[in-house]
Amino acid sequence: MTPVSEILYLIAAVLFILSIKGLAHPKSARRGNILGAAGMMLAVLVTVFKPNVLSYSAIFTAMAIGGGIGAFIALKIKMTALPQLVAGFHSLVGLAAVFVAAAAFSSPTAYGIGIPGNIHVGSLIEMSLGTAIGAVTFTGSLVAFGKLQGLIGGKPLRFQGQHILNLVLGIFLVGLILWLCESSSPVAFWLINILALSLGILLILPIGGADMPVVVSMLNSYSGWAACGIGFTLENNLLVVTGALVGSSGAILSYIMCKGMNRSLLNVIFGGFGAEATADAADKDTGDRNVRTGSADDAAFLMQNASSVIIVPGYGMAVAQSQHALREMSDMLKNRGIKVRYAIHPVAGRMPGHMNVLLAEANVPYDDVLELDEINRDFSQTDVAFVIGANDITNPAAKTDTSSPIYGMPILEVENAKTVLFVKRSMAAGYAGVDNELFFRPNTMMLFGDAKKMVEDILKAMED
Ligand code: NDP
Repeated sequence: MTPVSEILYLIAAVLFILSIKGLAHPKSARRGNILGAAGMMLAVLVTVFKPNVLSYSAIFTAMAIGGGIGAFIALKIKMTALPQLVAGFHSLVGLAAVFVAAAAFSSPTAYGIGIPGNIHVGSLIEMSLGTAIGAVTFTGSLVAFGKLQGLIGGKPLRFQGQHILNLVLGIFLVGLILWLCESSSPVAFWLINILALSLGILLILPIGGADMPVVVSMLNSYSGWAACGIGFTLENNLLVVTGALVGSSGAILSYIMCKGMNRSLLNVIFGGFGAEATADAADKDTGDRNVRTGSADDAAFLMQNASSVIIVPGYGMAVAQSQHALREMSDMLKNRGIKVRYAIHPVAGRMPGHMNVLLAEANVPYDDVLELDEINRDFSQTDVAFVIGANDITNPAAKTDTSSPIYGMPILEVENAKTVLFVKRSMAAGYAGVDNELFFRPNTMMLFGDAKKMVEDILKAMED
């Protein structure tokens, strides 16, 4: 590497760090995104114009195909399908790590890390860790993709002795890595890959729907560490730095989400500990209890006569794309002197920050959008909680039912408001498959219908 390219790599690394900092707040997120893209562009250009490149035609063909597929997906993908897209992309990072390790292992002389059968021990350690983490990330992310896409059931798939098996396989994997480092044996290298691919499946299959957000962010972290390991093999400092940034920021996000859902990080990493209650609780019957239903007119009347309204958006708001109509509704209420705020749960929707992105897109003022900790106490002094397309994040079973898969997850305590309006299409459960007892409470009114249509009808009723 020439000093110039090292300096340019350093600039790209600084741009990535500034990008992450920018992405931490909706106000600076757009700038953060641009800085990240600029850093990546610089990184790609510096790498492509390195003197030891063998075939520009192969590189540019691969870039055109990959870039074309990426652009096509970015244009086509629905906002609601982003979590599975992220899981799918993580799987590719894992697979790339496996391929690079396999290439370096097969042609060590080309990488300057030794000769076949006698590779430097340091390189073998980097390579084996990179490929093992990469393989776990690859299959684990594919399973997460399948679960989020509905190709595999969201319920945890468990069998007797699963954790013991995972533990034994984990120990075996460490043994194989030691064997590889000692012998440079191809058998050890390929066994590491086979074992790690199986572990990825076994670790993620037992994890239930409610834990999936943490899993996606955990796999994000794994993919970063896999890239970091491969950066050492390729002696590419930028890949080391970028991999470490992705690895550590993914781990921090997982920790924050675990706190948000009251799940232990160890439970998630080792797959399905503590998820035992999920399947049974998800199967519970609703029974024939009555619910109070209302119309758009009723909702308009209640909100116009309130002095404060808290809007609680969830996944259904994203599905219906009702954020713009919602902002119009809150503007109209505010113009009448009513205090309107939005309450955001850390796992509302299907990806971290899902609701913030949609509300920002609809130009909802940032100061009106409050996190769970900032607003939860205010529900008891609020006239109307307007829950739109949200379910699990308001479900009191998280506080009271120890057998529930969401037990322990902090919730937005909408039930403390004088009136709770639930906008949803039916009595169906949310992502975790758990019935919500709030629908039957006397201070709840169900507004059945598509979220966008219902808000538009409420707007009309307010105008009349
Ligand atoms: P939920 O999935 O609990 O509830 C969403 C509700 O929206 C459903 O009950 C559904 O009811 C309703 N809905 C769907 N479409 C529409 C529509 N067009 N109009 C009106 N309502 C609609 O979502 P929450 O946001 O409350 O909770 C998030 C859940 O997702 C949590 O369990 C979380 O763990 C999980 N999760 C979160 C991720 C994240 O990173 N944020 C990632 C993956 C999972 P109906 O069918 O009756 O309309």
